[in-house]
Amino acid sequence: MRDRIAENMNRSVILHSDLNNFYASVEVKLFPEFAGKPLAVCGDKEARHGIVLAKSEQAKKFGVRTGDVIWAAQRKCPGLIVRPVRFAEYERESRAVREIYGRFTDRIEPFGIDECWLDVTNSRVFGSGEQIAGKIRAAVKEELHLTVSVGVSFNKVFAKLASDLKKPDAVTFVGPDNFREKIWPLPVSQLLYVGKATAEKLEKLGIRTIGELATAEPSLLVRHLGKWGATLSGYARGEDREPVRPSDEREALKSVGNSLTYFEDVYRKEDIKRLLYVLSESVSARMRDAGLGKADTVHLWVRDNAMQSYSWQTKVRPTALCGEIAGAAYALFCSRYVARRGVRGLGVTASGFDRGVEQLTFDVLRGDYEKKARAEEAVARIREKYGYSKLQRGIMFEDKRSIEMDVRGERLPGKERGGLSFEKGGGRGGLSFEKSGERGGLSSEKDGGRGGEDPAPKED
Ligand SMILES: [Mg+2]
Repeated sequence: MRDRIAENMNRSVILHSDLNNFYASVEVKLFPEFAGKPLAVCGDKEARHGIVLAKSEQAKKFGVRTGDVIWAAQRKCPGLIVRPVRFAEYERESRAVREIYGRFTDRIEPFGIDECWLDVTNSRVFGSGEQIAGKIRAAVKEELHLTVSVGVSFNKVFAKLASDLKKPDAVTFVGPDNFREKIWPLPVSQLLYVGKATAEKLEKLGIRTIGELATAEPSLLVRHLGKWGATLSGYARGEDREPVRPSDEREALKSVGNSLTYFEDVYRKEDIKRLLYVLSESVSARMRDAGLGKADTVHLWVRDNAMQSYSWQTKVRPTALCGEIAGAAYALFCSRYVARRGVRGLGVTASGFDRGVEQLTFDVLRGDYEKKARAEEAVARIREKYGYSKLQRGIMFEDKRSIEMDVRGERLPGKERGGLSFEKGGGRGGLSFEKSGERGGLSSEKDGGRGGEDPAPKED
C-alpha cells in the first residue's frame, strides 16, 4: 500500500493538447465570414490534383476527408468553400499557442504543427492536471479564438488517446482508475505506433481492442510481433514511461546521418548511387520524424578498401527531399572521390536545419518541391504502414539486400532483418548500418573533411 501511494506521488502528469481542425480554424479566424460554413483548406488549388489538407466541422458532416481531391470533395459537398494553405499563419498561431503552454511548463514536446505533449508534473502550483488543461483550453479560446482538445493522463500514449476522446474544445482525464473503462474499448489501431500492418497481425490473433491487447498473453505477442509486441502491450496497460522531450532538446540535433559498410568492394557507380539513395532515404525520413525541416548542407563519407576515410560537404538549396540529398551526395562522390579504390563504406549526413516552417511559404510557390515532398511523405507513410518491402523506388530493384531493409534500422520485425546488421561494426551480414551524428557535432568532422577541400585521407 505504501508503495502504491508512493507510486501515485511519483506519477507523471502529462497533457496532450491538440488544436481542432487547425488549418480550417485559422482560415475562419482570418475570415470570420466563413464561420459555420463548410470549408476546406486545399493544397495546389490551381492544379487539378490539389487535395484537401483540412476541413471544418461542417465540411466533415458532408463526408469531406483529408486527402480527398478537390473535385471529389466538391461533389460530396456542393457549397464547399475552398481556401489556400497559409503556413506562415499556422506557424504564427502555433507559436502563440505554445506561448500559452509555456505559462504552465517548460517541458513541451511538439508533435506536428498542431499537437503538443506537456509534462506538468512539477506544475502543481497551477493546479491539478485537469485544472491546468482547463486553463489552457480557456486561454486558447479566449486569446486566440481557436479551440483545443486536451487529454490528461499519466503517460504520453494515454494522454494522446484521451485528447481524441472528446472534441472540439474539451478536456478528458484518463487516470489509473478509469483507463480500463475509457481506453480499453478503443480499437487497437488508435494506439500510437500501431499501423495497419500491426493491426492486421493483431486481428489475426483475435485482438481488436486496446483492452484485448493489454490482457493478451505476452508470450503470444512476442512470438508473433517480437519485442515490439511486448512494448505495445505495455503501452496498452499504461506502462509507457517515455519522457516528454522539450523542443530545445530537439534543437540539439545538429545533424542526421546514416552510414553503411560493405564487406566486399563496390566499384560500380550505379551501385554507389543506389546505396547513397538508400542512406538518404533514411536521413530524410529521420529529419521528417524529428521535425527538423530542411537541411542546407549535405556531407558524404567514403571509406575505401585500404580503410582510408574521406569526407566532403556541400551547400545545397535547403531541402528535406531524399532525391535531392542523394543527388548532392552522388555529385560529391563523382567530383571528389578520385582514389578509384573499391569502396567499403559510405555515409550521408545532413545538417544546417531550418527546423521547419518559416520557409514553407516559399515552398508553396515552389510547386514542384511541394509535390515531391508530398510524394515522399506518402511513400514514407505507406512504408510505415505496410513495411519497407511493399514499396520500392525503381532505383533499388536491382539490389535485393537493400530492398529488404528498413533503412531507419528501427523496430524491425525479426524476419525483415534479412542479412543486415544495424549494430556498429556488426559483421553478421553483407552490410552493417550505423546511425550517426545524433547530438552535437558531426561524426564526419572527426574524419578530417571540410567542405570544399581536397580529401585528406586518414586512418579510422
Ligand atoms: Mg489537430
